[in-house]
Amino acid sequence: MQVRDQVLWRRTGELQIGTCASRAVTLRGLSPAEAALLLDLQVPRSREWLEDALARNGIAADRWESLWRAASTPPPRRADHPDRQVIALLDDHELTVRAGADLARRGARLVRDGQGPGALPALALLTDAYVSDPLRTAVLLRHDIPHLPIVVDDDGVTLGPVVRPGVTGCCRCLELARTDADECWPALATQLRVLPTPPVDVEVARVAIPIASRVAHAHLAGHVHGGGFRITAHTLLPVDPIPVHPACACAGLTPPSGDAHVPA
Ligand SMILES: [Zn+2]
Repeated sequence: MQVRDQVLWRRTGELQIGTCASRAVTLRGLSPAEAALLLDLQVPRSREWLEDALARNGIAADRWESLWRAASTPPPRRADHPDRQVIALLDDHELTVRAGADLARRGARLVRDGQGPGALPALALLTDAYVSDPLRTAVLLRHDIPHLPIVVDDDGVTLGPVVRPGVTGCCRCLELARTDADECWPALATQLRVLPTPPVDVEVARVAIPIASRVAHAHLAGHVHGGGFRITAHTLLPVDPIPVHPACACAGLTPPSGDAHVPA
């Protein structure tokens, strides 16, 4: 027996099988003995060796079966080529719709939400005023759907960074960091979320839409940039990647059963 791919340690209780993020399986909720055993199985081992190791470490057979199945099953391929991938447009804001249309011209297939039957979307686009809607982004995180949050404010547009659940920080990480910097931020954010959506300057939209499309297309092609962009009428600036906030569970969610978890 041997694990099908490279086994990488991510953190306590968490291993990644495979080096390529788009093809890797993340196992969470592992005991130290289970993690050590999987790491040991990077080299071929006999059935007898395994049975002895399971008994020695008190790992039940059915638990091992479920771990081994998860470790041995590659995640479903979203698509070999970005041009055939499904993009979910989560609202009718002009930035969402026009960036989606640009991706459709490159061959992507558009759907109007990310939770219907069939394959999960490879990426979701959503535009909010002032602050990303935590209810919408929580659903995306729960379903392991990467998403490009677009935020419109009075001065311009912020694109991304692309949130890759379990890999990058998420919109809640961003909000927690803002709260660290300003304890009044939650009160401000609550008020901002109910303000009318400001109009997008024509020139800002002209710049933002193709950039949003290119960022999305690069993500689909597996090119990880990590950062985003801030676009105003006068500036185009890079936005740093979102670090995972220690108070956010987004990168370390453990299924209630404690079983291995295979991202969709
Ligand atoms: Zn987070």
